[in-house]
Amino acid sequence: MTNILVTGGAGYIGAHACKALRDAGFTPVAFDNLATGWAEAVRFGPFVQGDLLNPSDIAAAFERFRPAAVMHFAALSLVGESMSDPGQYWRANVNGALNLIEAALAAGCTNVVFSSTCAVYGEHGGGALDETTARNPINAYGASKRAIEDMLRDFDAAHGLRHVIFRYFNVAGADPQAEVGERHEPETHLIPLVLEAAAGRRPAITVFGTDYPTPDGTCIRDYVHVCDLVDAHVLGLKWLLDGGESQVFNLGTGHGYSVREVIDAAREVTGQDIPVIEAPRRAGDATRLVSGGERAARVLGWRPSRSSLPAMIGDAWRWHRKMARIV
Ligand code: UDP
Repeated sequence: MTNILVTGGAGYIGAHACKALRDAGFTPVAFDNLATGWAEAVRFGPFVQGDLLNPSDIAAAFERFRPAAVMHFAALSLVGESMSDPGQYWRANVNGALNLIEAALAAGCTNVVFSSTCAVYGEHGGGALDETTARNPINAYGASKRAIEDMLRDFDAAHGLRHVIFRYFNVAGADPQAEVGERHEPETHLIPLVLEAAAGRRPAITVFGTDYPTPDGTCIRDYVHVCDLVDAHVLGLKWLLDGGESQVFNLGTGHGYSVREVIDAAREVTGQDIPVIEAPRRAGDATRLVSGGERAARVLGWRPSRSSLPAMIGDAWRWHRKMARIV
């Protein structure tokens, strides 16, 4: 069996990636410091509790498991928090990635699948964003991811570190079997918060900004199902293992939905009333982030199949109700 080191393997996307890797015949080795991840989410392969800011933890994982590639998910990823505490983002994300890359190269591992973000693009007047769009992040989270993209490029040029960069749009949904799902403490993301309001676990959903230049005044985002997203990662991994060159891919569907449209879809799926509180804009939020790229379809043959709003919200709702029974 081929081992793949999955940093952040106890987190939301990392845990789904571990399941997809296991299903594709790989052994996912989850590496996580459990700062934001959950040990219970590691179900599909071995677990290493370690920290990317501690190089000896990473070296030990490479020594023990000799992975053929790394999938690098571990990161701080909250736009709002990155604006109020940028130092934490630069330290954890950029220093952590540098330690990981150096440890991989020292162990002779030259294949990296990296989790980047559409936040690297910033504001582009609402136009479609493809992989060639200039990167002008407007928050520290996006800036830290841009720095890591540049780091990968430089290490490729100097040391042959082949990599696939995936720029995610808004990841949503959960494993349809509800073995794993989205679990953040505290929760800040729109869809899980809307579902908590639907379940009566919070009084209302707060809408951040109703004066954006969009048809209903709220921000527009391109939501992609986490299972579709991790399927792309398995395709990207195989691309590298088959000798493909370094590449950047957007992962989005090309369809944008406003915050109000998401809330309306959640009302439909759950059959619940969801009260709304209108609030000012949240710092660092771009008006519209929608993928215009088709490269993942063309090069990797990626076809998202569960990324409709009802499917994403329905899968997230099933997971949410399961968690509500357990926690
Ligand atoms: N949002 C909102 N209320 C919330 C959380 C998010 O109105 O309680 C909005 C947010 O301003 C953004 C969209 O929902 O326009 C998606 O935010 P999320 O935090 O889910 O993901 P992000 O786009 O920051 O990665």
